[in-house]
Amino acid sequence: MNDLNAPRAAVPSWRARPAYQQPSYPDAAALEAVGADLRSRPPLVFAGEVDALRAQMAAASQGRAFVLMGGDCAESFEDSSATSIRLKVQTILQMAAVLTYAASTPVVKIGRMAGQYAKPRSADTETRDGVTLPSYRGDSVNDHAFTPEARVPDPARMLEAYLRAGTTLNLIRAFTMGGYADLREVHSWNRGFMANPAYKRFESFAVEIDRAMRFMEAAGVDFDALRQVDFYASHEALLLEYEDAMIRQDSRSGRLYDTSAHLLWVGERTRGAGDAHVALLEGVHNPVGVKIGPTTSRDELLALIDHLNPNGDPGRLSLITRMGAQRIRQALPALVEAVQADGRPVTWITDPMHGNTITSDNGYKTRRFDTIMAEVRGFFEVHRELGTVPGGIHVELTGDDVTECLGGGEQIDEAALARRYETLVDPRLNHQQSLEMAFEVAELLRG
Ligand code: PEP
Ligand code: MN
Repeated sequence: MNDLNAPRAAVPSWRARPAYQQPSYPDAAALEAVGADLRSRPPLVFAGEVDALRAQMAAASQGRAFVLMGGDCAESFEDSSATSIRLKVQTILQMAAVLTYAASTPVVKIGRMAGQYAKPRSADTETRDGVTLPSYRGDSVNDHAFTPEARVPDPARMLEAYLRAGTTLNLIRAFTMGGYADLREVHSWNRGFMANPAYKRFESFAVEIDRAMRFMEAAGVDFDALRQVDFYASHEALLLEYEDAMIRQDSRSGRLYDTSAHLLWVGERTRGAGDAHVALLEGVHNPVGVKIGPTTSRDELLALIDHLNPNGDPGRLSLITRMGAQRIRQALPALVEAVQADGRPVTWITDPMHGNTITSDNGYKTRRFDTIMAEVRGFFEVHRELGTVPGGIHVELTGDDVTECLGGGEQIDEAALARRYETLVDPRLNHQQSLEMAFEVAELLRG
C-alpha cells in the first residue's frame, strides 16, 4: 500500500476563483485551526483503491461495467448508526445483484455515503412563521434545528464529519469484506422481496436468477470467493476547506488525491468551468463527476472536459445528467453528440432524482416513482439512439421504510408521506422502491 502524505506539490489554486455555496464562518482562526488539524490526520481512502475505481469507471464508459451510485441526499451525524449504514449497504448490494445479472457485467457499487454531509441550497436563508435564519447547509456546516445558534456555521463540524466518515467507511469495509456481501445471502434477501405480491411482475426474472444461482452451484463455482465485494465512497465536493484539507500526495507516483472519498462530484450549482470547485478537482487524480442539468450548453460542457479531462483519460470524468423526465429527450441528445464529436471519453450516468422534485398538495417536497423511471427510460433511449453507452444510475435512497417518494408497488400516496418523512433535504426512495427500480432498470439493460 502506498503512503499518502501531506502534499509537497502545489494544491490547485481554487482560492483565487469564484466560490459559491460556501459558509461564512464567524471565526477565521477557528477555521484555520480545523484545517491544520485535518491536514495532520490519516487519509480516509488510499491511492490504490482510487485508481482501481478509475479503471472500473473506464470499463463503465465502454459498456464493460455498470455504475450504481446510491445513498442519502444528506447524511446526518445522528443517523450514522450501524443499522442505518447496514440497511443502505444491503439495499445497494441487492440492487447490484439484480443489475449484474441483467447487464452481464460487473456492477460498480458506490455509496453516496461516508462523507455526504454538505449541501448546496437554493436560498441562503429560510423563513418559518416570520422568523428568518440561515439555511441548513449539511451537518458538516451547521445544525438542522431551526434556532439561531444551530444555524451558525461551525468549523469544528468538519472534524466531526471526518470522524463520522471514517467510522462509516470502516463499517462498510467490515460488511463488504467480512462476509455480509455473500452473493447467496444477497440472493435470499431478494427472494424475500419477491415474495410480496406487489412485485409479481418481476417473478419470471427472479426465477431466472434463481436458476442461474443453482447452475453456478452445480457447476462448482467457488461461492466463498464471492463473499467479498468492492464498495466505494463518494460525495459532492462542496465544502472547499474540507476537501482541500483532505488532499494528500501519493509517495509512489507524486500525484495528489482528495482522500475524503474515492469519487467526488461537483454539483449543478457550482460547476462553472472557471470556478473554485472545478479548479479543486482539476488538481486531484480521483475519478470525478459533474452534475449537468437541462440548461447546460455545449460550450460549457466542452469547457468542463478541457478542465477536468484535458487528455481524455477513460474513467476520469463522469457526466451525471439530471434533466427532468419532461426534458431529457430534448436536452440530452445535443450534449451527447457534442461529447461524441469531441472524442474524449466520459462515463454517462443518469440522476433521475433532481430534475423531478415536486411539492405535494399537503406540502411535502417529493418525487413520483413513475416520473423517476421515465427519466431513466429517456436516458437509455437517447443513448441507444445515438450509439453511446448508458453507464450507470445515481439515486437518492435509504434502506429504511420511509415514505418520502410517491408511488411504487406499495402505492405511497400524498397522505402516506406524513407517516415517515425523515429526510433532511431531498426525498429518497425507500428500500422497496429501490429494489423495484433495480428490477425495472434490469429490464432496460436487457433491452
Ligand atoms: C444532490 O445531489 O443532492 C444535488 C444537490 O444535486 P444537483 O447538484 O444535481 O442539484
Ligand atoms: Mn439531493
